[in-house]
Amino acid sequence: MSYNIAIDGPAGAGKSTIAKAVAKKLSFVYVDTGAMYRAMALYMIREGVDPADAEAISKKCQTAEITIGYVNGEQQVYLNGENVTAFLRTEEVGNMASATSVQPAVRTKLVELQKALAAKVDCVMDGRDIGTCVLPDAQVKIYLTASSQVRAKRRYDELTAKGQTCDLEQIKADIEDRDYRDMHREHSPLRQAEDAVLVDSSDMTIQEVIDCILKLCAK
Ligand code: C5P
Repeated sequence: MSYNIAIDGPAGAGKSTIAKAVAKKLSFVYVDTGAMYRAMALYMIREGVDPADAEAISKKCQTAEITIGYVNGEQQVYLNGENVTAFLRTEEVGNMASATSVQPAVRTKLVELQKALAAKVDCVMDGRDIGTCVLPDAQVKIYLTASSQVRAKRRYDELTAKGQTCDLEQIKADIEDRDYRDMHREHSPLRQAEDAVLVDSSDMTIQEVIDCILKLCAK
């Protein structure tokens, strides 16, 4: 049986940085499920689909083949065979992903892929519904959060470091909108699993969070 660590939490809580580091330390595979939802969103943007049109999204979903692979230990996401990893981390794609991921057709397709992956390999998987829906039997479950102010500042620093121009207040507003949508959607809303450990990283360094999770795994 594979060993699975589930990390859920809102946008910008530091899930991917932490999950990646924990996976490296344990020699596990890191699975970024947000990137899969983003690849699906990129497809919808390219196809000109209205995010509010549930029927169009379900239909388009059938022609989007999402797969993942690893190059030098880094997750790559393929959309109908094209490596789209470099196009996924923009605010436009993130906002579209938040809107399209409410659709059951999108979720069913990606959850199936995630479950199949986790059954095969020891992994650290991050997302919104990993502990509650994708991997209910994960050996360790973490709910990682931080205040919206702290999360917006982190996202702002990340984007500016990549040379993208952005507005801190706008990012904070987008984060709060996304939190609301992720937490209030009908299917698999973002919430802490009953058996998940809550970690608030607002006043913690990355290393402190990593150590805290490794300690929980060692137990
Ligand atoms: O984590 P990331 O910001 O890349 O996720 C983008 C969007 O994809 C989230 O706002 C959320 O709506 C959706 N998502 C999801 N379930 C997951 C991972 C991401 O609904 N397991």
